Amino acid sequence: MSSEGQTSLDRVRNRISDPPLLETAHMLIDTHAHLDFPDFANDLEDVLRRADEADVKRVINIGTSIESSKRAIALAEKYPSVYAAIGVHPSSAHDAEDDVITPLRELAKHPRVVAIGETGLDYHHLPSEEVAKEKQVQVMTALRSETDEEIEAQIRDGACKSKQASLFQQQLDLAVELGLNVVIHQRDAWEDTLEVLRAYTGKVRGVFHCFGGSLEQANEVLGLDHLVSFTGIVTFKNGVAVRQVAADIPLWKFMVETDCPFLAPTPFRGKRCEPAYTRIVAETIAVARGVSFNEIAEATTETAEQFFRFNRA
Ligand SMILES: [Zn+2]
Ligand SMILES: [Zn+2]
Repeated sequence: MSSEGQTSLDRVRNRISDPPLLETAHMLIDTHAHLDFPDFANDLEDVLRRADEADVKRVINIGTSIESSKRAIALAEKYPSVYAAIGVHPSSAHDAEDDVITPLRELAKHPRVVAIGETGLDYHHLPSEEVAKEKQVQVMTALRSETDEEIEAQIRDGACKSKQASLFQQQLDLAVELGLNVVIHQRDAWEDTLEVLRAYTGKVRGVFHCFGGSLEQANEVLGLDHLVSFTGIVTFKNGVAVRQVAADIPLWKFMVETDCPFLAPTPFRGKRCEPAYTRIVAETIAVARGVSFNEIAEATTETAEQFFRFNRA
């Protein structure tokens, strides 16, 4: 049929069969949220509606313990835009059973589980750090008891680190077994985290979430075929360094997240964070890179689509 002969009905048909380009072009994925935390108990439906209005069409709820992972799956069952990652956070290590791979393997059978994590190493709150903090206020404590306390804390540090490493390895092993990728939490434990991960190079991919390291560190993890993701920290006044890393690394090597309820971006800093703010994170990175918001939305969404297993049979 010639174009002249095209009826208005044909034109409508053609338009309908076109893929909804505009919708997906603006779409974002919040790759790291904690909607199962009590902070969202009273208004989760509103929170998800605002996310949708901000074009944050998918939210990955990240488990931090076995119980939290179960809640993540329950949310993913209830809300079509929510998916679950299941894992035991290093800060929950002291409360965790020695064997986490068995219960996580069971939970991972659920088709809306898209990754393992968050897992990793966190040395920020080790027992000796807590003792050192207490010491600053208890300056009058007798020297002898302080020393004992410190030695004991150092022994507990060692136990805490090895428990964290064991849980981390179990979760990496499970990810390899199931062909899932891993959401990695790292704080004050850079060398040890990479040391554990090196044995898994080529077998499993990880995302270093809430990335706050240097460009050199970013390149180190990208070189091992892992990714990084950025939170609202890129919007902070004192977030210059991480904003620069987000501007400098290759477009296809990072994702965006909120880590809500934590780390609300400017101008909401200090308030409760929520998935809708993923948009502010993406907009800030777009400005830092001197590109359009759409370019960041499209690239980070496609990277997330490839990293997480959204369509598990
Ligand atoms: Zn984390
Ligand atoms: Zn988290």
